[in-house]
Amino acid sequence: MLLVKQWTSDLLGLLFPNLCNACGNSLFRHEQLICIKCLYDLPFTDYHQYADNRVAKQLWGRLPLNAAMAMLYFRKGAKVQNLIHNLKYNGRTDVGVLLGNMLGERLKPAILYQDIDIVIPVPLHRKKFKSRGYNQSTFIAEGIAAQMGIDISENHLIRNTSTESQTKKSRYNRYENMKAVFQVNFPEDIIGKHILLVDDVITTGATLEACANALLATGAAKVSIAALAFAE
Ligand SMILES: [Zn+2]
Repeated sequence: MLLVKQWTSDLLGLLFPNLCNACGNSLFRHEQLICIKCLYDLPFTDYHQYADNRVAKQLWGRLPLNAAMAMLYFRKGAKVQNLIHNLKYNGRTDVGVLLGNMLGERLKPAILYQDIDIVIPVPLHRKKFKSRGYNQSTFIAEGIAAQMGIDISENHLIRNTSTESQTKKSRYNRYENMKAVFQVNFPEDIIGKHILLVDDVITTGATLEACANALLATGAAKVSIAALAFAE
């Protein structure tokens, strides 16, 4: 019986091998989701240690943030892109939690991120949520919140209208368009609090800027930003 079980398990392993979400190679039994080699090769930014990192500088002058960082450099065709692709399009929400855990491990001892009250994922566009079935940033936020021992909320920051495609608009128009999109519910929970906003990849920062502005306008004391990756 034991032999049959082992054989079945090996056969299933051959048919559905456990593959690394970054490089696609088979994982060894002790490896989970990402192989050791890929973990070792991940391009970490160490931005959590520097207030004047490139993500923060990109947002400087646009809004009064407490701190901003991204954990990894995002390069097209590279391992980080594969990881985020699997998280967003292949249902690998476990990759989001794992990377969120890694992010939380870094933020936990970081001076700028010490007094966070609530972790809030950037809400997904309603149509995208419907077709994807989940918000990838929620799983990243769950990983962070678990490491830092902080609550996560998906009820406080809401996307209230559908926005048209952002790609062909200038940054100014995009921002104007985003401004009305986010709404804060239960403001009494937000007033005077330090909020950590979580996103997957930072590109222009327009969405994060609109989210942070909505929270600050509601009376949040501080808003900080953490993302998995930064598109250079
Ligand atoms: Zn790998």
